[in-house]
Amino acid sequence: DIEIPESHPRYQSLLTRHRIEAGVEKGITSRQGLIAQGRGEAFDYLLGEQTIPSADEAARAAAAHLLLAEHPVISVNGNVAALCPEETVELANAADADIEVNLFNRTDERMQAIVDHLREHGADEVKGLTADGRIPGINHERAKVDADGIGSADVVVVPLEDGDRAEALGEMEKVEIVVDLNPMSRSAQVASVPIVDNIIRAVPNMTEHVRELQDATREELEAIVGDFDADEALDAAEQAIRSGGDE
Ligand code: ATP
Ligand code: MG
Repeated sequence: DIEIPESHPRYQSLLTRHRIEAGVEKGITSRQGLIAQGRGEAFDYLLGEQTIPSADEAARAAAAHLLLAEHPVISVNGNVAALCPEETVELANAADADIEVNLFNRTDERMQAIVDHLREHGADEVKGLTADGRIPGINHERAKVDADGIGSADVVVVPLEDGDRAEALGEMEKVEIVVDLNPMSRSAQVASVPIVDNIIRAVPNMTEHVRELQDATREELEAIVGDFDADEALDAAEQAIRSGGDE
């Protein structure tokens, strides 16, 4: 690993960048993933590289959805696998959710490399290799999912999802939880719960909320879900970006 002094003002950002680079070297992150990371970094910079209150509220609503779900699934791509594999496994365990590898640029090698990487980081079962289900309305390769995974999920967490697929998933009557630093991205716009935050903060934050809400009643969870307003969350995030981190 490279040495970055923790006192460096851009410590987290440099560490994140290094993880994505290592992901590309390991064959788990695509080169397009590097570009997505750059886009994300720009928004994170404008947000002050912090979890803004509206994003925390969204993470709490996401946790309530996960606890209410019959079959929650966390979708993992090459960026997520490179940036927060352990944290993703922890969230899946806390929420009793499946993990499914789902790639925009799907190749067998990359699918397998990500499955292996997640298992190295503590994942038990990882779905995505069967690919016997389809998301209706999108191009064949990009539509592939596991029928007993995302195909039959009632709640899906899709960090850094492409806009087209986010839209198609939303039309499948699933609760879609999107993590995306750009509140203007189509993915964030179509989400039931958009979390405008860096996945390296949002995933552990969701886990914390899941743990804290573990013993809540269905009524309490439903109230949290019902009180959440996606448009308000997106507006608050855009406001924060325009004012350098303050909502
Ligand atoms: P569309 O409008 O179709 O959604 P897009 O601009 O979002 O297009 P991509 O570049 O594929 O298309 O999406 C990458 C998205 O992921 C960007 O919105 C970027 O802000 C977000 N992103 C990148 N890295 C992170 C990260 N670490 N945490 C959260 N979001 C991230
Ligand atoms: Mg997007």
